[in-house]
Amino acid sequence: MNAPAAGVSDAPMFAHDAFRLTPAQADLIARARRFGREVLAPRAVQHDREATFPLANFRDMHREGLLAICIPKEAGGLGADFQTYSLAAAELGRYCGATALSWNMHVCSTLWSGKLADDLPMSAEDRSAHDRRRRLHYDRILKDGSLYAQPFSEDGGTAAAGASAFGTEARPVDGGFIVNGRKIFASLSGAADYYGILCTARAEGEVASRRNTLYLAVPARAPGVEVTGEWDPLGMRGTVSRTLLLKDVFVPDDEMLMPRGFYMLAATRWPHMFLTLSPTYMGLAQAAFDFAVAWLRGEYPGAPPVRRRMFAVKQLAVAEMRIMLEQTKALWFQAITEAGPNPSKPQVLRAYAAQHTVMENANAIAAKAIRVCGGHAMLKRFPLERIYRDSRCGAVMLPWTAEICLERIGRETLYEPGESDA
Ligand SMILES: Cc1cc2nc3c(=O)[nH]c(=O)nc-3n(C[C@H](O)[C@H](O)[C@H](O)COP(=O)(O)OP(=O)(O)OC[C@H]3O[C@@H](n4cnc5c(N)ncnc54)[C@H](O)[C@@H]3O)c2cc1C
Repeated sequence: MNAPAAGVSDAPMFAHDAFRLTPAQADLIARARRFGREVLAPRAVQHDREATFPLANFRDMHREGLLAICIPKEAGGLGADFQTYSLAAAELGRYCGATALSWNMHVCSTLWSGKLADDLPMSAEDRSAHDRRRRLHYDRILKDGSLYAQPFSEDGGTAAAGASAFGTEARPVDGGFIVNGRKIFASLSGAADYYGILCTARAEGEVASRRNTLYLAVPARAPGVEVTGEWDPLGMRGTVSRTLLLKDVFVPDDEMLMPRGFYMLAATRWPHMFLTLSPTYMGLAQAAFDFAVAWLRGEYPGAPPVRRRMFAVKQLAVAEMRIMLEQTKALWFQAITEAGPNPSKPQVLRAYAAQHTVMENANAIAAKAIRVCGGHAMLKRFPLERIYRDSRCGAVMLPWTAEICLERIGRETLYEPGESDA
């Protein structure tokens, strides 16, 4: 019998027969995996070291069609649905967390204005204006490889958590809006062609309300747009998430990524839209596990060919990691599979549970991998320490941070809508 090939496993994370994926899904996901292994992995070290944005990855993604993965087929994209996109993104996350996370910010501008918006009730007038506008965005991506960022977060965090109106405001004027505000952690800052911001549409004298949240693409080269601040974080260094300042920026009406008032409707009717940060971290969890297995078998490329697999303590640790990984994958797969409009309460609670589990377990599995593989495996010439640092960022990502997920799962399990103890 032939021995299995040495090295790190790059088998699909979700085998198409076991998870009942169609051949078309399997093909697209395999394409993402190949791209991750061949293009992203070799460049990941440098961008992590230097905290620079991997622009060449995105140029190559344009050539591969991956920038348009969620643009509908009839508009010229690959037409991936939520589940297919999530599975492809997890495969990219295995090879470069920072690229997968930044790609997610870009893809959401097409997924949310595409499939999600299709599922929302709109008047014929809104629908036709939206269809016309999103074509402009799609065409920029398809023809020019334009990149869209997604800076929602602001100082204080309550708006991005969904608890208050955004402080960044858009004042309606003839033909568009005048935008003022400040966004923190703008992944793709300096590299994006458009910043897909969330802001509050507010006319003079009007009270700021979350109902008036507007999803607007601010052209990066518009006068009044400035990127400031340094970027030297623990992990996800290649996202280059600096601060975005917007000072009296004129943004034309056509830059609306959703019609006015529809973002809040989407957030209520399609809550899984906020699960899109999780695929990257699902991929990181798999990468940490695959690394540990290859390492303990003495097969990790470039590592001393020393086997450690014969020790019972190592076997137990690997068993624990595998159980955590399987639990994480099963729950996450269920959540991404049932993503859609108007989910039931158990489905929403499951989505929070999946987000919490992926974000916490990715880092816990990476920490265990470091412990079980030993000091050599922490050296910077191996990817494990980067996976560990990158995976630490997941739990702090708004709006579904680990704490917010816990808070909602607890409260919504114990209270039905309208119930109180007062
Ligand atoms: C690598 C990286 C890339 C990022 N990229 C982007 C991006 O592209 N776009 C973007 O919009 N943001 C991005 N973020 C920002 C991220 O989503 C958070 O907004 C940011 O980490 C919040 O930092 P903060 O210090 O302001 O924390 P705070 O918002 O102050 O939160 C600190 C803690 O308080 C908790 N908390 C906050 N609000 C509430 C609440 N209402 N209820 C209960 N608990 C709460 C949180 O769980 C968190 O643990 C990125 C962050 C990182 C680390």
